Amino acid sequence: MQDVEHLKQRIPLLEYLQQRNWIARRAAGEHEFVGLCPLHHDTHPSFYVNSRKNLFYCHGCGRGGDLIRFVELFERLSFRQSLAFLQRQGYAPGGNLRRHLAALGYSLDLLLHIGLINPQGRDWFCRRVIFPCRESRQIVNLYGRSIGSAFPHRLLPRSKGGLFAWESVSQFSTLILVEGLFDLAVLWQAGFRNTTCAIGTQLTPAQLAQFSDQSGRPVYIAFDQDDNQAGQKASHQIASRLQGAGIRALIVQLPAGHDPNSYFLAGATAADFTHCLQQARPL
Ligand SMILES: [Zn+2]
Repeated sequence: MQDVEHLKQRIPLLEYLQQRNWIARRAAGEHEFVGLCPLHHDTHPSFYVNSRKNLFYCHGCGRGGDLIRFVELFERLSFRQSLAFLQRQGYAPGGNLRRHLAALGYSLDLLLHIGLINPQGRDWFCRRVIFPCRESRQIVNLYGRSIGSAFPHRLLPRSKGGLFAWESVSQFSTLILVEGLFDLAVLWQAGFRNTTCAIGTQLTPAQLAQFSDQSGRPVYIAFDQDDNQAGQKASHQIASRLQGAGIRALIVQLPAGHDPNSYFLAGATAADFTHCLQQARPL
């Protein structure tokens, strides 16, 4: 029952309906909204939602209840099936961005130009976890990591911006550079807040300048240990560029086949990773 309550808190009823294009206006009370009923053929708005109580009631068809009851009725599912259906909603429903942005008044040309929509008119970032890339608090790009079978990495066709989370990372006296944002997330979670990411294995001139903004600060490069040596080659290239700019670069050797993310998923601890850092060697 605790899970059910948690689920209802996580997905507020009003938000759930609005994401499915339910158009509502505020009714009498502060938390009351009214619109056409999605459950029956309604011509006058008779479907009321109380956003504080997280409940709905339709004066037309007389049906009411909570989010789970709504899903049962709308999707014609059992209680148990409705719970499973909602639990899959940790993510936004895929493929709806174009419709959503069009409804907000953005033209298709603009969405194509920005790169949110592909030439076939579909969402480019469908089935991806999105990380906003910020520069001085402004979002300059989006990184989308695939959670399906599509190519893992996608950025908008524009500059990827500076080093990730640079404003908080630059204050540390040593830095860890990783390839991907999942590597960064897992290291942050393990307490390595001095980790940054260039998104990929190449540094832009602006990113190299960021590393150079302080002297005597070593950079640990913790890239993928690929079977085809791609990650190892990339770490050597970056180490040599950093050294060329007067920065001490150390190459971290993870167990074969691992990147920081997979290493922690396989059970490594912060102490294991610290040991890898201690073993890191210059070029
Ligand atoms: Zn109704």
